[in-house]
Amino acid sequence: MFESERKELVDKLKARKITDKHVLEAFLKVERHLFLPKALETHAYRDVALPIGFGQTISQPFTVAFMTQELQLKKGAKVLEIGTGSGYQAAILVNMGIRVFSIERQFDIYARTRKFFDEMQINALLKLGDGTIGWEEFSPYDGIIVTAGSPSIPISLKKQLAIGGRLVIPVGDRSTQILTVITKEDENVFSQKEIPAFTFVPLIGREGWDS
Ligand code: SAM
Repeated sequence: MFESERKELVDKLKARKITDKHVLEAFLKVERHLFLPKALETHAYRDVALPIGFGQTISQPFTVAFMTQELQLKKGAKVLEIGTGSGYQAAILVNMGIRVFSIERQFDIYARTRKFFDEMQINALLKLGDGTIGWEEFSPYDGIIVTAGSPSIPISLKKQLAIGGRLVIPVGDRSTQILTVITKEDENVFSQKEIPAFTFVPLIGREGWDS
């Protein structure tokens, strides 16, 4: 279902300089309409963010593709995602052969996505909690992707990154953020690159916004 729409979306991503073939292949395969409320199904392959209920959104496909490409992952890499939401970003990563650990703070969203992943046999480890403090148990991670906007870079996430690993996080105020890509060059040595201008829902937690 919607195969030609997915192909058109992938062509649009290519036109916007998404070149990683593993990312593009995952976008061809993962059925975004299944991650949305039924009433929005026909909008699934437009390159826009859409509501998923409980005041949250599924990110714009370009943003998902861009952030995934920035992680520069190899098959078998271990990634921590903060903000499971609909599960679409996690499913893209799983499809690329990545081992995914994902944290969501809102119970209703977590419970719904967990049930959906079980039904669809999407193999990712999901947890309910505050992702701003990471998930130490399975650290270090080759990549950490934060899918909500943060006022600053959570120290816990930098700590839980493997050497050579990358953290992709939108940082800014509540209306616009700069996508910040941090590479852990060595213990306590980080390089940073910044790409304006993105808009995400707020990252709420101990090392994020208060509410
Ligand atoms: N990655 C998601 C997807 O593919 O649908 C999009 C996520 S949505 C833009 C951001 C999500 O981050 C929301 O579901 C929100 O509840 C969650 N969130 C906000 N603060 C969080 C935190 N501290 N820990 C975990 N999840 C958080």
